[in-house]
Amino acid sequence: KWDEILEYLKIEHCVTDVSFKTWLLPLKVYSVKDNLITISIDDKMIGPDSKNFISRKYGIPLKVAITEIMNQNFDLEFILESQIEPAKAKSTTASAEVNKNQKNGLSFLNPRYTFDTFVVGANNNLAHAASLAVAESPAEIYNPLFIYGGVGLGKTHLMHSIAHYILEQNANSKVMYVTSEKFTNELIESIRNVNTTPTEFREKYRNIDVLLIDDIQFIIGKESTQEEFFHTFNTLHESKKQIIISSDKPPKDILTLEERLRSRFEWGLTVDIQPPDYETRMAILKKKEELDGLQIDNEVMKYIATNVKSNIRELEGALTKIVALSRLKKQEVNVTLAEEALKDLISPDDKKQITPALIIDVIAEHFNITSTDIYSVNKSRNIAYPRQVAMYLCRKLTDFSLSDIGKIMGNRDHTTVLHGIDKVESNIKKDPSMQNTIEVLTKKINP
Ligand code: ADP
Ligand code: MG
Repeated sequence: KWDEILEYLKIEHCVTDVSFKTWLLPLKVYSVKDNLITISIDDKMIGPDSKNFISRKYGIPLKVAITEIMNQNFDLEFILESQIEPAKAKSTTASAEVNKNQKNGLSFLNPRYTFDTFVVGANNNLAHAASLAVAESPAEIYNPLFIYGGVGLGKTHLMHSIAHYILEQNANSKVMYVTSEKFTNELIESIRNVNTTPTEFREKYRNIDVLLIDDIQFIIGKESTQEEFFHTFNTLHESKKQIIISSDKPPKDILTLEERLRSRFEWGLTVDIQPPDYETRMAILKKKEELDGLQIDNEVMKYIATNVKSNIRELEGALTKIVALSRLKKQEVNVTLAEEALKDLISPDDKKQITPALIIDVIAEHFNITSTDIYSVNKSRNIAYPRQVAMYLCRKLTDFSLSDIGKIMGNRDHTTVLHGIDKVESNIKKDPSMQNTIEVLTKKINP
């Protein structure tokens, strides 16, 4: 009945074809014991990071679908196929397949970032139109497409939308989405011959049809990375491959950008995204309400749209916060509750203070986990490490003491915090790509 369950999930949750193929088809029932269903994830197909994502995003919907179809409640557990047969997964063919799919950039696309879920307003209609045009005819009109705008205004969302769209039109198209941080790290690793070689690195980035490189501002000033990117850019552009770049500023305002790169960035089309106006903020909240299956009082929506203005991530976060608080307090969502939930977010002076909460939000997003994970006692590796990074950055960027930091993150004592910080510090020393990651995170927190 597995097919039926997946089909149900697809329809009930309006899962798009791309998401369905990417995340749900690679799932298989591994075993059913009493009330526990173990679902295996074909990580050769979609990479080992997918487990976290799938259980978070589809865990509950899947449970509901199973209950509906089987008429019985089950608990769910996910495992990676490579963990079932470690020997097999380590074989070269398997890792080659992971490579192939990572080359497609597939595992790095958020299934929710599509054109369908992108709300178009006066603030972003040009960027949206240009993105759609490029998605429809890659390398034919605007090359490169350069999208710029402030934090949380939808650059990444648009880039993923383009990638999804192109893959939907042509599943064989070699689409690569990468953050400039990852590009840098991979370059560093290839130079040190960790995991890859410089030749492999070049092949990887030059044998593709579409390159999307997000947050280019983080390679500015890194000379060897800029140099490498320059050559990648030229190779792709000469062979008529589409390049899409995002940045927080337009090329002309990136003061330290090498002239030759700047002029190349301006070869194609440069479009901006501005902060949304009130109507667009309302429309985005409505869209989120619909996607999350919520029903929120209109007054509350108006309250959020009036007060959270300059960042769509915060706009969405505000809604999530209110819903969470209402569940916690078992109170209905109304304006009073909204005021309480948002009192930290809506401060009279709009200056951003560096708080542990801010640091944790940035880190959670970066590592593709939730802030709640970092606050929690959960010790699994994929959460423990980002948490240690959070401890390290809280110590560096705030005045909080070790024991304060420990209290915030799952009530740990100060020695645990100290240990975490030491670990991150020693990693930074021995691993230049870790150093780059910390640098990027610091800039994201404190631009
Ligand atoms: P950026 O990359 O510019 O920092 P993101 O693309 O990560 O911003 O967007 C932040 C959040 O806001 C994401 O959850 C994204 O889905 C949402 N978002 C941004 N713009 C829109 C839009 N026009 N319609 C719907 N959601 C949006
Ligand atoms: Mg982004």
